[in-house]
Amino acid sequence: MSDIKLFNNDEKATWCVGCGDFGILASVQWAFANLDLLPTDVLLVSGIGCGSKLPYYMKANGYDSLHGRALPVATGAKLANHDLRVVVFSGDGDGYGIGGNHFMHTMRRNPDLTHIVENNQVYGLTKGQYSPTSQKGFLSTTSPEGAIEVQVNPIALAMAGGASFVSRGFANDPRHLRELIVKAINHKGYSLIDILQPCITYNKVNTGAWYKERVYKLDDDPSYNAGDFDAAWDKAKEWGDRIPIGVIFQDDSRPTYEEQVSQLRDGPLCRKSVEQPIDLLEAIKLEFV
Ligand code: SF4
Ligand code: MG
Repeated sequence: MSDIKLFNNDEKATWCVGCGDFGILASVQWAFANLDLLPTDVLLVSGIGCGSKLPYYMKANGYDSLHGRALPVATGAKLANHDLRVVVFSGDGDGYGIGGNHFMHTMRRNPDLTHIVENNQVYGLTKGQYSPTSQKGFLSTTSPEGAIEVQVNPIALAMAGGASFVSRGFANDPRHLRELIVKAINHKGYSLIDILQPCITYNKVNTGAWYKERVYKLDDDPSYNAGDFDAAWDKAKEWGDRIPIGVIFQDDSRPTYEEQVSQLRDGPLCRKSVEQPIDLLEAIKLEFV
């Protein structure tokens, strides 16, 4: 039987006191315990950034990849071992900026993995540059006159990109976030959780209080149907005075990427014998004339 304490290690988190990442760490550990997972059942893959440090502070399998490259690494791991629950951690810069290309192609492939993006709307680890999700006009070290680009809307981007599970959480509501993580991991296919995460050091605009004033829970509306793409699209566009959190869109009908790779029909790579010789021509059914 699992327990939240099984996922604790002795590492002291180096995040700033009051950082939203602490709430996310607690929610992840809590969700894993609720799912009755053990540290050996999960693989945590991260990129680079404050949010990507999260796996350092958990006892579980982990792989720290390059900046923006966590998703292809995670996809490869899932192809090799379908039994692993693979969870990816990245920030808004890592996930939507440097890793934006991988974000787009992972969504349409639909591998069975969960993608947690700790979205604080700024680059924190590298000391406060504006990021893809920074609001227009955001003042930062690299935008002293205010950011001039329109901010990325990750929820709309994910829906347009074919993601089969699209959701948003709030770091300062760990109970709700824990429930969301459980739903995302239980979803068969790619699941995105974009998490509003206050960065108390470099984002003085989108603070915990700023988010708290605006967020509302979709779960409180029993008539909301996350399976209805058009209704979900309306929610995806909502940002500003009101920001929806919860499962925004879910499509359970799509097969996963690993289910469609013919070479894996008789089991994942990690179960294949290395003794058995493989006839490559036969395996890929090439015919020469
Ligand atoms: Fe958290 Fe921001 Fe500090 Fe990074 S810089 S640890 S995101 S508060
Ligand atoms: Mg960030």
